[in-house]
Amino acid sequence: MSSHDVPYHVLSNRSVTPVICELQLAPDEAAMPYRAGQYVQLSDRLHEVPLRSYSVANAPRSDGRISLLVTRVPDGPTSSWVHEQLRAGSGVTLTGPYGTFMPDPDQTGPVLLLAAGSGLAPARALAESLLDASRPRPVTLFFSARSSADTIDHARWLDWANTRRDFRYLLTLTRDPGAPEHPRIPDLLPGAFGDLTGWEVFASGPSGFVVGCAAVAEALGAERAAIHTEEFFTEPQPWTAHAPAPVERRDD
Ligand SMILES: Cc1cc2nc3c(=O)[nH]c(=O)nc-3n(C[C@H](O)[C@H](O)[C@H](O)COP(=O)(O)OP(=O)(O)OC[C@H]3O[C@@H](n4cnc5c(N)ncnc54)[C@H](O)[C@@H]3O)c2cc1C
Repeated sequence: MSSHDVPYHVLSNRSVTPVICELQLAPDEAAMPYRAGQYVQLSDRLHEVPLRSYSVANAPRSDGRISLLVTRVPDGPTSSWVHEQLRAGSGVTLTGPYGTFMPDPDQTGPVLLLAAGSGLAPARALAESLLDASRPRPVTLFFSARSSADTIDHARWLDWANTRRDFRYLLTLTRDPGAPEHPRIPDLLPGAFGDLTGWEVFASGPSGFVVGCAAVAEALGAERAAIHTEEFFTEPQPWTAHAPAPVERRDD
């Protein structure tokens, strides 16, 4: 292990959709400090599994527990290892935290979280953190899933939307066999919001989804500096300093 490795162990690993599992991790000793919206890099203790980036899917907790939402990529070494081999008690290594997918502390206006598939991970951490803040800001979560089987925490979001005045939940199903249309979030934003002047916008998930959301948010009046993006690029192999190449994700 390098000096930056932080040892964690798996508390549970459960499927939350047909292609996404949720990994609950607890620190062996001291937890890694991080802020909502950031990501970590995950590997096994001996670094035999390629190091891959995963957004933390919960706001920081006092017990240091971390949740990750991992989409299974066919023939992908790290996501397959997570899905097939990690069980309660397995040891893993985290490095980090990394990333700047975080709110501007000077902003006080409403927040729009746009997420597709496992892109929900940083959006969920941000929603928990923003709504728990001493001065909460209104939060809208707009989630894109293929079908109702691909939604994550649907009951929780509905409950929050019904019980909290500062939280709104919107959902689109892009490939649901029962739905007459399969609208995508970038196409729905103008009708749902009209004007995003004064909003802080976060888009996370597959590159095409994120780029499309950011372009429409800017066209609707959000300031470029207030539009944050987290693209789930594929990592180069082996890890190098070169920019990762974008891929089409299968979970938008
Ligand atoms: C900042 C950041 C945050 C991220 N957060 C998350 C997260 O929270 N959850 C999550 O699941 N992933 C996340 N990712 C993606 C993750 O880091 C890995 O790229 C992903 O898990 C695939 O790793 P792998 O080793 O299994 O497959 P790889 O070896 O990376 O890929 C195997 C092959 O599949 C292709 N491929 C990769 N991804 C896909 C895909 N989605 N659909 C189709 N083909 C693909 C690759 O081009 C390659 O040919 C994030 C990436 C970044 C950069």
